[in-house]
Amino acid sequence: MTDGGQEEIGGAAPARAQRQRLVQALAENADQVTDLEQQHARFVEASKDSNADDEHDPEGATIAFEREQVTALLDRARSSRAAIEQALARVDDGRYGTCERCGGPIAPARLEARPEATTCIACAAARR
Ligand SMILES: [Zn+2]
Repeated sequence: MTDGGQEEIGGAAPARAQRQRLVQALAENADQVTDLEQQHARFVEASKDSNADDEHDPEGATIAFEREQVTALLDRARSSRAAIEQALARVDDGRYGTCERCGGPIAPARLEARPEATTCIACAAARR
C-alpha cells in the first residue's frame, strides 16, 4: 500500500488521470493547429501564384474555398484549445467533471469522448 497518503477528492477518476487526458488532448490539438497552419500558409502562397482576383479562374476559386475551409478548422481547433485549458484549470480547483449548469456529475464516457465538456449530456441537450 504505497498510496502516498494523497486523498482523491470525490471523483470516480483521480485528478491525475483527468489531467493526463487533458494534457494529451492539448498535445493532439497543438499538432492539429500546427498542421492546419501549414496548410493555411500553403493556400496563401498558392493564391498568390494564381490570379485570385480573376473570378473566372477556376483554380483560384478552388484555392480560395479550400483556404476558407482550413481557416474555419483552425478557428475551431484554437477555440477547443482554449476549452481544454479551461478544463485543466477546473481539474486544479476540483470542479472538473461537474456540470456547470446543474452541478451534477458529467458521465465518464462523455468526458472520455469530450474531455473539455463543461456540462452533462442532459444540459448539453437542453441548451441546443
Ligand atoms: Zn447538467
